[in-house]
Amino acid sequence: MIKKTKILATIGPASDKEEVIENLVLAGVNAFRMNFSHGDHAYHKSNLDKIRNIEAKKGIRIGVFQDISGPKVRVGKLDGMFELHSGDKLIFVKEKIDGEQIDEKTYKICINHPEILSLIKEGEYIYLCDGSIRAKVVFASGDSVEAVLENSGILTSNKGVNFPNTKINIDVITQKDMKDLEWGAKNGVNFVAVSFVQHANDVLRVREILKGFNSTAKIYAKIEKFDAVENIDEIIAVSDGIMVARGDLGIEVPYYEVPNIQKMIIKKANEQAKPVITATQMMLSMTQNDRATRAEISDVANAVLDGTDAVMLSEESAVGKDPVAVVKAMTSTIIEVEKIYPYNKFDNYEFYDETDMVASSSCLLATRLKAKGILSITGSGKSAIKMARSRTDIKILAIAHDEQTAHSLTLAWGVIPVLVKPKNAVTLLVSDIIKDLYNKGAISDELTYVITAGFPTGVAGSTNYIRILKKDQIRYYLDI
Ligand code: PGA
Ligand code: MN
Repeated sequence: MIKKTKILATIGPASDKEEVIENLVLAGVNAFRMNFSHGDHAYHKSNLDKIRNIEAKKGIRIGVFQDISGPKVRVGKLDGMFELHSGDKLIFVKEKIDGEQIDEKTYKICINHPEILSLIKEGEYIYLCDGSIRAKVVFASGDSVEAVLENSGILTSNKGVNFPNTKINIDVITQKDMKDLEWGAKNGVNFVAVSFVQHANDVLRVREILKGFNSTAKIYAKIEKFDAVENIDEIIAVSDGIMVARGDLGIEVPYYEVPNIQKMIIKKANEQAKPVITATQMMLSMTQNDRATRAEISDVANAVLDGTDAVMLSEESAVGKDPVAVVKAMTSTIIEVEKIYPYNKFDNYEFYDETDMVASSSCLLATRLKAKGILSITGSGKSAIKMARSRTDIKILAIAHDEQTAHSLTLAWGVIPVLVKPKNAVTLLVSDIIKDLYNKGAISDELTYVITAGFPTGVAGSTNYIRILKKDQIRYYLDI
């Protein structure tokens, strides 16, 4: 049985051998995340080449997901390891310094984005070391900020800093990101994930940059800042897809709010037919252990039931002890929970255009016919994703006409992308598709299918054609 929910796995030192990548794909990985917070261009290029080799060898499509680092705020260099205690004071200064202890209970440090200091107000909180150290701001002058620790912890150089109460309005694309985006465009990555998005303009800005580099990569906004949650509707509207980036998000908002936010984002993304990924700590204990915890298995299963299109692995597949075992466990969990999945949501969503109506109606028709597959001819990929919005339990074969569109569907729930070259005449195009799928064994002339398309071709949002394909029709198209 093929799972409907997709798996996005981060590639890293534990998974960067061609043989491991192949085994990960066989175990259920649909796309790989290249984390540009680590590794240089040569490293990412060698992984990309390995992925494309395996694709060619297996005759399937694997997505390449470039996750750019974005403006992650970090403390500067420290002249040692600071053992901090509750009540100690941290003085943040604007100038670049080596952090130092200035008396028994006071430390002076800097951050890599000093412009943020002038936005901080008394009473706000600053979190360090990915959320583990909490400090309350007691003095803020613009040039320096003083914060008193409310718990203990060890601070070392370059640790992450979060400002969950401060709108930091920081530029979402750094100079490094710019170079990385250019690299991604040159090397044909299929997706770009934008870290620390704050509002829709951040996504629009990346779209302009990608246009300048001639890239049509799909843009996924990572929701990991409190202001991104506030602006979620406008961000979903302009993004191609969304990531619920629970790692940073759980520091930016109270950790106990993350489950509700995850469900809210998934629901809104489903409604707008934008693929959504649930990310971070899904199977984290398997980075070291042979088995996931019951809680982790439940987390994956519940994300699937929430309606996520894909689940993501980070450390588990990048640096864990056995990435293939993690993916196998994830796949088994997905296949099991999909047995009780609430399929067939034909009427759960608004119909925003005719493509929505055709998608829902053709899924309903396919169900009534007990069809074995829906063939969705999709110029941009959008109509196949809209088909998936109904969460039909029938296989969706998305017939794309170019490699980028086919690859961009690797993260969409339940969609199997296929490539067939376009034709202007409907009969000839359908004939090409039937022949291609029949020869690959993807369809049989003993079964029933539903095919949808937009004619004339090339007009976006024009899906207006539904046909039932049974033995006689299939034979007719095979004989043309
Ligand atoms: P990261 O993003 O792994 O790049 O930090 C995901 C998250 O924050 O959850
Ligand atoms: Mn993050």
